Parts: sequence; structure tokens; C-alpha cells
Amino acid sequence: MTETQKPAEIGLIGLGTMGAMLALNIAEKGFRIAVWNRTPAVTHKFAAAAGDLAGRIVPTETLADLVAAIVPPRRIILMVPAGPAVDESIAHLKPLLGADDLIIDAGNSDFHDTNRRAKAATVGETPHFLGMGVSGGEEGARHGPSIMGGGEAADWSRAAPVLEAIAARYDGAPCATYMGAAGAGHFVKAVHNGIEYADMQMIAEVYGVMRDGLGLSAGEIAGVFERWNEGPLKSYLIEISAAVSRATDPKTGSAMLDVILDRAGQKGTGRWTAIEALQLGAPIPVIEAAVMARNVSSRLDERREGEALFGAAPKRLADGAVSIEQLEQALVGGKVLCYAQGFGLLATASSAFDWSLPMPAIARVWRAGCIIRSAMLNDMAAALERAPTRNLIQDPVFAELIRQAEPGLRTVVGQGALCGHAMPALSSGLSWFDLMRTGRSTANMIQAQRDFFGAHGFERVDDTATGLHGPWGSHGHG
Ligand code: NDP
Repeated sequence: MTETQKPAEIGLIGLGTMGAMLALNIAEKGFRIAVWNRTPAVTHKFAAAAGDLAGRIVPTETLADLVAAIVPPRRIILMVPAGPAVDESIAHLKPLLGADDLIIDAGNSDFHDTNRRAKAATVGETPHFLGMGVSGGEEGARHGPSIMGGGEAADWSRAAPVLEAIAARYDGAPCATYMGAAGAGHFVKAVHNGIEYADMQMIAEVYGVMRDGLGLSAGEIAGVFERWNEGPLKSYLIEISAAVSRATDPKTGSAMLDVILDRAGQKGTGRWTAIEALQLGAPIPVIEAAVMARNVSSRLDERREGEALFGAAPKRLADGAVSIEQLEQALVGGKVLCYAQGFGLLATASSAFDWSLPMPAIARVWRAGCIIRSAMLNDMAAALERAPTRNLIQDPVFAELIRQAEPGLRTVVGQGALCGHAMPALSSGLSWFDLMRTGRSTANMIQAQRDFFGAHGFERVDDTATGLHGPWGSHGHG
């Protein structure tokens, strides 16, 4: 058998942005891969452009050809848009596959859909199913993404040799981890994306203070981000924030950032995270604020009408009101608080869905390849190793970091508020922190109100009895 006639070790459907890069990555790591795309011209173009890797790529014209090209038991990766395209692809594949074959959905599927598909895969003589979150964008897919898998452990083990070979590496360890049953991998990926929204929003907020509050140019802001990328904030997102601040628009010669419209897009994974957190009763205000801010950003006309009606906020800060060091502290503090919430959501979900999510391994899998990769995640992995379900703000290392960052965060949020800087993510992080360090909150007022109008009952500070009522008389229902 010649090299080109050998059966492929794995298959891939969907040669879009991600699928094409993943297929090249797989081929580069020495695996023969059969590929199929709904539009055949895309397959031809992909194969023609594969260069040195073409010898390990088997382009196919039909799904039946794809299946026939792969050695059984087969492993087939789906890289198509989340939603109906995944269900359609599974439905078309099912009649062609055996009960030992394995379908791996590597798109950004909603974990509820993954749970449903995983359950369907256990009924009758159907192929096995893995749901896998892949992060790192096009570049990550090509040279090493971060991979979060969910499904049967035995199915993960079958796919792992390929997935670990193509994944990003941190200190030599592959960033490809089995998270647990069914939708666990896609859930962890969704939370990753929620944190990504929050990280980006917090960076945008301090950018706003530098631009409108301190009057710095994009180039000066680039310099600040570059310096921050050598300290505790060292991360991919700070690195690219420096790069986009530094870039020049070829059309006008202005800073690129200054000609980009302030209307942010989204594909919905941040929203899913927020919805799920609300369902689970897990507080993630920084992520929720980031999703909200993207939604508000898209209402450009309404914002412009608002500015015409109320006038623009002054924004310009008094000399010395906020320093660059305080902005850095604000971002460090906000980041720790945001991740504490994200890991808190994961711990809550793990218990609610009976998953046993590997908390320190989640921090580790995010250290390389993915969009939120950062130096701080290494310390977070160590903290979660010490106590997997303890709130990160209670870990001694992070508690100390928050103590150091708090004054800066408070100054930035406070001074920003006085001058009309919208900082939904940083300010909600600070509010959450203040709630979390308050032994006696104001919820006694809520309880009194609830009892007054609805006879819901309350507990007293000086009694263990429950269901007590207040002396509201004929005005209340208590
Ligand atoms: P693209 O839009 O670039 O590609 C989509 C691919 O899916 C195309 O090959 C398309 O084929 C195929 N496709 C669409 N509908 C169907 C269908 N009904 N049946 C079969 N094939 C279909 O998407 P991406 O590569 O960007 O994204 C793929 C998945 O990866 C998504 O779930 C996305 O959320 C996720 N993802 C994307 C990231 C990114 O940075 N882009 C990062 C991480 C995850 P055709 O050529 O015929 O249109």
C-alpha cells in the first residue's frame, strides 16, 4: 500500500476557519486525516493549499467517501457552527457509522445540546459522542489550542493521543484535558469564554480611563500595556491590547483603534455563561457586566441620542486623581475577583451536575493555547490544588494580592464614577468584593420587606428559630 492509499487515522468535517487550521495541525503532528466539507470546492482549495502536509491529507467528495477513508473504529471531528449544523451532521453520519465509531463535536456547542447528544449516543447501536471545547482562535487551532473534553472517559482516551499531540503545551504538558461526562467540556469552554468577555471588558475600561480620563494617545497607551505585560498582568489579552493600540490605520494614518467603531460583536457564549450562572445561583457579576456592556455597545443610536439628551460626561480626571500604577492595580484586582467568580461558578456547576470537574486542571489547561492564557493562571492552578472548591479570594496568596490591589481598584472606580466613566465590570467586581467581606449586610431589610408584603418569615440574630414574623400590624401581611 502506498502512502496515499493508507487509511486515515482520523476524519474532520467542516473546513471553515477553525476546521482547516485544526486539520493542518493534525496532519503536521504526523496523523493521516480525511477531510470533508459541505461545499466541495472548499475541500479542493484546502487540499491544494496544504503544501508539504498534502501527503497526509485525504480530501473526500462525499460523507460516505470520508467514512470509507478512515480506519475503524473511526474518530471524526465536527468543526461546524454550533446548533442545527451539528445535529444535521450527526444525522447524516449516523447511518454510515458503526457503534464503535466516535463523533467529536469540537465547535462551541451549548452544553445542554451536548448533554442531549451524549444521551442520544447511549441509546441503541449508535456511534459514541464527545463534546469538546477548543479555544485559541485560528492561530491556536493551527499551532496549539487549549482543549476541554467531555463524554465517556474511555472515548476521551481514544481521542487523547491526537488531541494531546495537537494541543498547546505549558512547560511540556499538553493543554488538553478531560473535564467529565457529557457537556462538561463545553461548559468549561463556555465559562472560559465568559471570563474572556470579562477580561476584555476590564481592559477596555482601563483603556477608557487612559484615553478619556488621562488624555493619553493610542501610542502612549500601547506603551503602558507593553509595560504591564511584563508584570502580574502578563497575558495574551494584554499583549494584543498593546499590539492593537500600537497599530496605524493604512487608510488615514491615524491610530487604528481611533477609527474602529465602538460596537462590539458577540456569538453568545458569554450570554450562555451568565444565563447558566443565574440558573445555578452562582454570582458572576463581572462576567454579567461584560455581557451587558457588549449589549449596550451595540445600541449605538440610542447611546448617541443619550449623549445628545444628557450631554457627554466630563471624563477628564483631575491631575493626580488616578495614576497608571493604580490602573494596573485595578486590573489586577478586577482580574482576581473575576476569576474567583468564574471558578466559583465551575465549582457550583460541578456539584449541581455531579461532574467532579478537575478544578486545578481547568486552570492548568487555560495556561497556554487559549485566549485567556496568562501568567496568573499558573498561580491559580496552585491555589486550586491547595483547596479545589475554596473561593479564590480566600486563598492566602490571592487574598494578599487583593489586599495590595484594592486601594487602586477603589480609587479607579471611585474617581471614574465621579467623572462619568462607565466601568461596569470593575465596579461590579469591587461591589462583589465588598459584599464578600461584609459579615453584616443589608439583607435584613430585604427579609423585613418580604415578610411585610408576603409573610415569608425571617430569622433573628438572637434566636435559632425560623419562620418568624414582624409586628407589621394591619399594614403588612405578616
Ligand atoms: P466557519 O464559518 O469559518 O466554518 C463553518 C464550517 O462549517 C464551514 O466549513 C461550513 O461549510 C460548515 N458548515 C456550516 N453549516 C453546515 C452544515 N449544516 N452541515 C455541514 N457543514 C456545515 O466557522 P468557524 O470555523 O469559525 O467555527 C466552527 C466552530 O468552531 C463553531 O462552533 C465556532 O463557534 C467554533 N469556534 C470558532 C473559533 C474561532 O475563532 N473562529 C474559536 C473556537 C471555536 P461550507 O463551506 O459549506 O459553508
